[in-house]
Amino acid sequence: MHPPATTFNQRAREALQDDNLQLALERTMHHFVDGRLGAFARLPHGEALRDQGRIIRANAIARLDEHLETFERNARANGSVVHWARDDAEARAIVLQIARENGVQRIIKSKSMLSEEIELNPALERGGLDVLETDLGEYIVQLAHDHPSHIIAPVVHWPLEDVQALFHEHLGTPMDASIEELTAAARKALRDGFLQADMGVSGANFYVAETGSVVLVTNEGNGRFVTTTPRVHVALVGIERVAPTLQELGTLLQLLARSATGQPLSVYTSIVTGPRRSQDEDGPDQVHIILIDNGRTNALAGELAESLYCIRCGACLNVCPVYRRLGGHAYGSVYPGPIGITVTPALDGLFPWHELPQASTLCGACTEACPVRIDIPRMLLKLRADTVDAGLAPAWLRQGLAFYAKAASHPTLFQLGRKLAATTLRLAPKSEGGWIKRMPGPLAAWTESRAFPPLAAESFSERWRKRTQSDETTVRRYRWK
Ligand code: SF4
Repeated sequence: MHPPATTFNQRAREALQDDNLQLALERTMHHFVDGRLGAFARLPHGEALRDQGRIIRANAIARLDEHLETFERNARANGSVVHWARDDAEARAIVLQIARENGVQRIIKSKSMLSEEIELNPALERGGLDVLETDLGEYIVQLAHDHPSHIIAPVVHWPLEDVQALFHEHLGTPMDASIEELTAAARKALRDGFLQADMGVSGANFYVAETGSVVLVTNEGNGRFVTTTPRVHVALVGIERVAPTLQELGTLLQLLARSATGQPLSVYTSIVTGPRRSQDEDGPDQVHIILIDNGRTNALAGELAESLYCIRCGACLNVCPVYRRLGGHAYGSVYPGPIGITVTPALDGLFPWHELPQASTLCGACTEACPVRIDIPRMLLKLRADTVDAGLAPAWLRQGLAFYAKAASHPTLFQLGRKLAATTLRLAPKSEGGWIKRMPGPLAAWTESRAFPPLAAESFSERWRKRTQSDETTVRRYRWK
């Protein structure tokens, strides 16, 4: 992954000023949230299913080495070729090698965030190969030379009007084409690609250790074309995406679809277990599975291992107040939103991505929505602490925190500082309701988009002291407890 040249604050400011983006987010984001809430409300044992999902993922990650070995053995027995890639460069080289050995010219792809992570498309194109994205969202992104901005809805940042203009330019549809007309035009344009492709590249939502299968979940059916029509199928698989057994896969699939799109199950669930057998009517002659590490083993060893439980449903993005205002591109990483700001530094190191853990209000909505209950705020606090320890936080923040730590550990000094701050804030010019509209220095960013609240004239401890002095009964009862 390549960190962008601009700062997060610059990108966030641009996103807030982008009217098209704001329109698209406002129209779409609530549908995902409503869909998920409705889907779980209709499931009486939804919370128990989430508990079960968390246990499955936690146990699977704890025994990842065993599952990988079991998977490799079973996948080979099915006739698949298993490759191991330590990093993105190795993964790209393996795909190119497979393409060269099989005289491939045309490649069709189904949606895969891992292929974005390893920057596969540019490498294939540099290698002289034609690449066609077949997921509708990814197809739009490819036509527009754009990037996905959401892990399950790549063009959530595009309002319908922009898609109409794009298809009008590239596919000749009317400027006011309906969604059905746009979809039909894309289907027609993609059909030839499906029929002429030599190789299909897919991701994998999961791999099943006990059967040696890779599992793809889609709503458009393009995944089935990609994995069955061309003579060679290459599956890009993150090593953490294990479901140890088919039974456990069943639980994870129910959680994934409900959390991602509010469906009880996605429209197409494909379980690929090796290449075509002699009695099969269709299917590829070769199935290559590339197990990709790219930083996952490092993450596994530390306090961010929980980020690997993620099943990439996107629910935490949909509820995040930061993502809902900025969309995905402002993060600068392939993985945006709460899980993105956790998993990106976990996979790629903190140094290039140290701004990202700050892109959160720590409100906890992500954990509340997460189907496998990943404690994202805990990991963000750890990453923020690491940022300060590594000297990567701005000087004013480091000095401010050091000062605060000193004051907070001396009650008299803390009370004095609080009184001083309350008095100063009382004297500052106020807006309606007594809130301050503009703060000086590094606090100015706070008041750019909201007012600074007043500090209470009386602190909690002062009120507590007064109350206990005036009500001895309460004090005695409290002490007795
Ligand atoms: S962290 Fe949880 S909610 Fe977010 S994408 Fe992963 S599984 Fe879904």
